[in-house]
Amino acid sequence: MNSTVAIERCCDYSVSETSRAMRAAIQSIDGLDFVKPGMRVGIKLNLVAAAKPERAATTHPELVCRLVEMLREKGAEVILGDSPGGLYNEVALNHIYSVCGMNVAEKMGAKLNRNFGVADGSYPEATIAKSFQYTSWLDQCDAIINFAKLKSHGMMGMSCAAKNMFGVIPGVTKPQYHYRFPDINQFSDMILDLDTYFKPVLSLVDAVVGMEGNGPTAGKPRPIGAILASRDMHAMDLVCAAMIGLSKEDVPTLQAAYRRGLIPEKADRIATTNKISDYMVGDFETLETHNSLLFSDQVGGGKVGKLFEKLGSNVLRAQPKVHPQECIGCKQCKNVCPAKAITMENNIPVIARGKCIKCFCCQEFCPKGAIKVSKSLLMRLIK
Ligand code: SF4
Ligand code: SF4
Repeated sequence: MNSTVAIERCCDYSVSETSRAMRAAIQSIDGLDFVKPGMRVGIKLNLVAAAKPERAATTHPELVCRLVEMLREKGAEVILGDSPGGLYNEVALNHIYSVCGMNVAEKMGAKLNRNFGVADGSYPEATIAKSFQYTSWLDQCDAIINFAKLKSHGMMGMSCAAKNMFGVIPGVTKPQYHYRFPDINQFSDMILDLDTYFKPVLSLVDAVVGMEGNGPTAGKPRPIGAILASRDMHAMDLVCAAMIGLSKEDVPTLQAAYRRGLIPEKADRIATTNKISDYMVGDFETLETHNSLLFSDQVGGGKVGKLFEKLGSNVLRAQPKVHPQECIGCKQCKNVCPAKAITMENNIPVIARGKCIKCFCCQEFCPKGAIKVSKSLLMRLIK
């Protein structure tokens, strides 16, 4: 596989700028050579929530339009889809398509997915996810393009191409996967299994305006000024991590990719079309997840490393914290919590620390951004 990562300057979401940058990024890696007339190409977007494009939580519709144009020029049929958290049905998705601005892509000739069936996947060769349910619209597609958004993420440090494929799991069942794979390394292996099973032929990242701070849904838009494209999503994720000041130690899916020999130690070993250093955002506000403490090889492996890994997982990792003054008492966090760790007291959620598996679903689904990623008490004391 060609692991070159195209990085192209894209300063805004105007038609002229996105058209130039998208074509340059894709053409520099011969990214659409696989497309044949009549082929059905599915674009797996990031539509994590019903959020307007300017909130920078979702793949921007202007970039999607440019990709649709390129695919249509090659004679492809294009289907756009995702399964955000929550209900996976026509009413819910029509609302999300509309708020996220995806209806404009329909005017360019793409179809918005309205097949809300689910299918059972069997993957005996998987590292950990040997069986799973997935959204069956993907079965209609001859090829999948993975189109992610670059954001900070409460649980995974960063949301980018590898994490985006978790959206193949039907929304309502996603929290169960956190419970089934509560260990962050297992969870990352599950995501990599999905990546390998669905094999997107091309991955793209909307890093024109990313999200920093309380991501992936309630952070702040942050201009980065780039579109990235690659056939190798993990190489591209390592490059994106470097752009926002993270290393593979900070991002568990990168750790999983490294364990499988899919990426080098550092981003500077990856071939890129432009210099990573020209795109780095030095003060990008990432979340202090302390994921780097979870990997025993950081402290030399062996029993001591494993002990440290367990300690890190239980008491050093960041945790969700409710900010009552921002809470409207909607109970979405309570309803989504896979560990049933949340109860409501005086209409404010209270998290039972002993039950919490630190999946950050509550933080991701809070419509008001009232749940933040917070350092653990021990980490605050150490700091
Ligand atoms: S309280 Fe939040 S982070 Fe903890 S298990 Fe529940 S949803 Fe996950
Ligand atoms: S989801 Fe957010 S706003 Fe709703 S109850 Fe939970 S913390 Fe409050």
